[in-house]
Amino acid sequence: MNILVINAGSSSLKYQLMDPHTGEVAAKGLCERIGLDGRLTHKAPARGIKVEREIPMPTHAEAISAVLEILVDPENGVIASTDEIDAVGHRVLHGGDKFIQSCIIDEACKQAIRDCIPLGPLHNPANLMGIEACEKVMPGKPQVAVFDTAFHMTMPPKAYRYAIPTKYYEEDHLRRYGFHGTSHRYVTRRAIELMGRSDIRLVNCHLGNGSSLSAVKDGKCQDTSMGLSPLAGVPMGTRSGDIDPCVAQFIMNKYGMTADECLNMLNKKSGVLALSNGLSSDFRDLEAGAESGNEACCLALDKFDYEVSKYVGAYAAALGGLDCLVFTAGVGENGPNTRAAICRNLGFMGVKLDPERNQVRGKEALISADDSQVKVWVIPTNEELMIAQDTAELVEK
Ligand code: ADP
Repeated sequence: MNILVINAGSSSLKYQLMDPHTGEVAAKGLCERIGLDGRLTHKAPARGIKVEREIPMPTHAEAISAVLEILVDPENGVIASTDEIDAVGHRVLHGGDKFIQSCIIDEACKQAIRDCIPLGPLHNPANLMGIEACEKVMPGKPQVAVFDTAFHMTMPPKAYRYAIPTKYYEEDHLRRYGFHGTSHRYVTRRAIELMGRSDIRLVNCHLGNGSSLSAVKDGKCQDTSMGLSPLAGVPMGTRSGDIDPCVAQFIMNKYGMTADECLNMLNKKSGVLALSNGLSSDFRDLEAGAESGNEACCLALDKFDYEVSKYVGAYAAALGGLDCLVFTAGVGENGPNTRAAICRNLGFMGVKLDPERNQVRGKEALISADDSQVKVWVIPTNEELMIAQDTAELVEK
């Protein structure tokens, strides 16, 4: 079976063609600069193929056409015809409180995604463009939407409600939603398999350019660090994370910024990038800076580790204890120093790393010491596989 997984952004589109049953990726790639000029990077790993092409992409439809063309290309492709694509799975950012799981895309589903645009103004329009581009280029092909918010819909009201007047919740749907849900769901499933039981108290640390944590009990999400938008929670590459709203008010008043300009600053110019005085949002650069004695880089890393540790502590309280801690995404999978610093902070509650095991990068591994009360795992995330599996399951039904 071949599932085409699509992650459409406003000017880019990532794709993978994979078998949902084996997880094997036949081809993957990226369309960039959609709406400007257009560039396609395409790889077929098993055949050692990597090609880059400049292809005009005025809209997402041309980008999808370019993807289909290269997938069936006799020289660089991996299938003979697009008939071999059984279905398309789309990553969709915001499902609001309508979607607790993935669904087949029909008019009602598209309207619901459209209705969530006020909640996900940066991503949902792009996700819809990806869906409509596929409809145009592959009419009749079954499509499935997989929502970044869905995994978190099991949170209880005490976790998802904001302590603000009820009408903002009831009329405007303002509440905590949480994101990276497909990643949190994937690593939760793996953690349950690796731990050999489902009744575990688990905290997942998805630490990448964007970072979020989730508190999970019996496989169900109880709380998560992102909120109405992905801006909330721990500091990230360029996002501030949690902040007193009065900081925004002060800056807007003093510097004559609009709310949108201020939010843009909090989303794109803050986080570890800001704390390192603009040096970098990339943890590799920050670590190199810290090693050469750059104090701003030290503070950026220290602040990140501190805030992540605080969330893990809070979630251990929320869960009534902790059995398992999982690190995933770019930094979580590849950052032994970050993992070590966080786990050192959590030593008081029985988290103890094995320094040798913790050197692992990008591979699934138990990294806690044998006498650690909490099992600590590195589990590389695989959102595309989850999307492909959901798509296959719904289409096979
Ligand atoms: P995104 O949120 O964009 O999906 P990723 O999960 O790919 O982000 O994480 C990207 C981040 O992972 C990079 O900014 C970098 O800081 C970090 N990273 C990747 N590889 C390493 C590494 N070898 N050591 C430390 N950090 C790394």
